[in-house]
Amino acid sequence: MREVAEYFIENRDLTKEEFRELIGCAEDPETVRELANEAVRIRKQYYGDGVYTRGLIEFTNYCRNDCYYCGIRRGNLRARRYRLTKEEILECCAGGYELGFRTFVLQGGEDRWFTDERTADIIRAIRSGYPDCAITLSMGERSYECYRMWKEAGADRYLLRHETADEAHYGMLHPSEMSLAVRKMCLYDLKLLGYQVGAGFMVGSPGQTADCMAEDLVFLKELQPHMVGIGPFIPHHDTAFAKEPAGSVELTLFLLSVIRILLPKVLLPATTALGTLDQKGREKGLAAGANVLMPNLSPLKNRKQYELYDNKICTGEEAAEGLKSLKKRVEQAGFRLVTGRGDAV
Ligand code: SAH
Repeated sequence: MREVAEYFIENRDLTKEEFRELIGCAEDPETVRELANEAVRIRKQYYGDGVYTRGLIEFTNYCRNDCYYCGIRRGNLRARRYRLTKEEILECCAGGYELGFRTFVLQGGEDRWFTDERTADIIRAIRSGYPDCAITLSMGERSYECYRMWKEAGADRYLLRHETADEAHYGMLHPSEMSLAVRKMCLYDLKLLGYQVGAGFMVGSPGQTADCMAEDLVFLKELQPHMVGIGPFIPHHDTAFAKEPAGSVELTLFLLSVIRILLPKVLLPATTALGTLDQKGREKGLAAGANVLMPNLSPLKNRKQYELYDNKICTGEEAAEGLKSLKKRVEQAGFRLVTGRGDAV
């Protein structure tokens, strides 16, 4: 194993330069194995063999943003848009609760039809209907006041990937009206308000270098999020990045191990994007240190429309109805699905 990896395992911390060197070890099989072993050991120490599940409700694909990588960006005039009604969202929750889910994740594009108040009303309805469940939001950037209103309405967690912590790289992925500084400020606001916060980034997005990823790790160390979502970039045919290569599954797995060691108690999903590029991607994610799965609870009729990237899996075992076979797969991989809110320890 490379020296920098040994040092990392011992100290669980590195400088940016050292992180860059560590990322350079992603091609060294022995280092990859040792980091995965250490990541699994740490995950076991805090979470045993338990894997948490979250029911993902993709409730709107309208979006005011124009992120270059994303299939539902506003500039994609070919996307067929939909938004769920409050009743439909509550039906998703009911179905999910029946299946055993105790966390609901409301994710969508930045759709201002869902005003601060309208969204708060939906959160209150879920909160009163499901007092034993956690409510996670993933709705992009809003004001401090809005985040506060939603917290008071009953939201517990918020997922807002920072996408890349490198200023120049952020500018390659987003139009100039968006900024890394605002994204980061939202994350700090959410933390201040007492949310369990999730940051994260895509692996292999166009223009990303080892230096960018080192900066991502430095930022995660500084932010100390409760959750980190990372997955490979996958091109979408109606975006400017249609012809770009997808990110690497192996590098994603390597970074999952690194993040588990860096933030031992973090909630770390094996993501849909990982499962999309590799049939066994999510099992491999668990074996690399992940401990969360997020099956899809969205209404079947809308699932294909929430197309962030090409070939996004949405009707197989990753879907909520496939929970039984998912349970089997997880057990075959040596883990066990746990019901419950699944808060960070
Ligand atoms: N509007 C919300 C939710 C965005 S979708 C927000 O701003 O947070 C959730 C995540 O999907 C994004 O944060 C991004 O990291 C990921 N994503 C989007 N397009 C992708 C692509 N082409 N390949 C892989 N992941 C993608």
